Amino acid sequence: MSRVVLASGNRGKLNEMQQVLANTGLELLLQTDFDIVDAEETGLSFVENALIKARHASHETGLPALADDSGLCVDVLGGQPGIYSARYSGEQATDAKNNVKLLHALQHCDDRRATFVCVLAYVRYAEDPLPLICQGLWRGEILREARGENGFGYDPLFYLANFDCTSAQLPPDMKNRNSHRGRALRAFVEQWRSSISS
Ligand code: IMP
Repeated sequence: MSRVVLASGNRGKLNEMQQVLANTGLELLLQTDFDIVDAEETGLSFVENALIKARHASHETGLPALADDSGLCVDVLGGQPGIYSARYSGEQATDAKNNVKLLHALQHCDDRRATFVCVLAYVRYAEDPLPLICQGLWRGEILREARGENGFGYDPLFYLANFDCTSAQLPPDMKNRNSHRGRALRAFVEQWRSSISS
């Protein structure tokens, strides 16, 4: 097994990712188990922030590292809240406050198109000049009111026409199979496999 540190303290995320990585020979470890403090996310894009986090985790542990950065990009808002999705409503942000702010920003808009984005960055060592970068996109629309109890963040507002429900109404395994994170992870598995076989 190759040990890879995941630049996150979220055990739920680790379990979800480890399921997709089963049979790849990669074993994910949480960066918090190494007592590492979070890197400062100073980038202007998902790619930059994912790479900053992966390099930091690798630098601190001496292991290969995988980082993800994700968020919601709303077309009519020029891609906002984007990399600021978690803190959209300020320092004391909660999912509920973020959703209220988003509904307010879109109250006069008929164009409700939005995309969940997940970017993964993998480095073999901190200064790896050839990181693996993968992205997964999930397109939907922002409803005018919340629906559903599953998931987190903007899920109750994120409507998927092909399922005729929000991502908060999808059972978790169905969400994992279709979501931006699931797509990015599957792309990563492919890239990683071809990087070790070439
Ligand atoms: P993180 O990078 O996974 O921590 O995600 C950053 C923020 O983007 C979260 O706090 C959510 O607000 C939003 N977000 C990312 N992925 C999802 C998702 O699958 N559902 C709902 N919100 C999400």
